[in-house]
Amino acid sequence: MNDPGIGPVIVDEHELQTRIRELGKEITADYADGPPLLVGILKGAFMFMADLARAIDLPVEFDFMAVSSYGSATRTSGVVRIVKDLDLDLTDRHVLLVEDIVDSGLTLAYLRKNLKARHPASLEVCALLVKEGLQKTDPDLKYVGFRIPPDFVIGYGLDVDERYRNLPYVARYAGPPPG
Ligand code: 5GP
Repeated sequence: MNDPGIGPVIVDEHELQTRIRELGKEITADYADGPPLLVGILKGAFMFMADLARAIDLPVEFDFMAVSSYGSATRTSGVVRIVKDLDLDLTDRHVLLVEDIVDSGLTLAYLRKNLKARHPASLEVCALLVKEGLQKTDPDLKYVGFRIPPDFVIGYGLDVDERYRNLPYVARYAGPPPG
């Protein structure tokens, strides 16, 4: 795609798919005794969730949750609103939360607290991208795809004003500040 908003590639398609296959193998081994319920956070994690699920050789189940955070378009405030809640009951389930990117970690801290209160048997996090050095609290991530520099990125599910989600790679955003 030829678009001046697409900056240098941070993680290319091959690196993404190779790492996701590795994560899938790890998850398959770790959950051999009890397949996880994958909980994807919309919209950003949809692409990662689809590829990750196909790399897990277990009868996983799926649910999705949509959240929106108040604050500017490129920075979260930590105040999170649930836009779409889960359909399934988490009681006694092995829940694996699938996140696109952890920046400040505030969204994840909120989600973890919210989901813990629903009494899952276990709760772990799989984040595709983690920005280096920005987390205010220890995000305690069991599975991490890539640690990346703290730039604003697009692609592979991540957007600016709903664009760029379908790029098969992750790139730095090089366009005007989103409005
Ligand atoms: P946090 O609460 O960790 O600061 O931010 C997490 C959420 O902010 C992510 O789930 C994602 O929706 C959004 N976000 C954080 N960094 C980026 C980024 O570099 N690009 C895009 N498109 N969204 C981001």
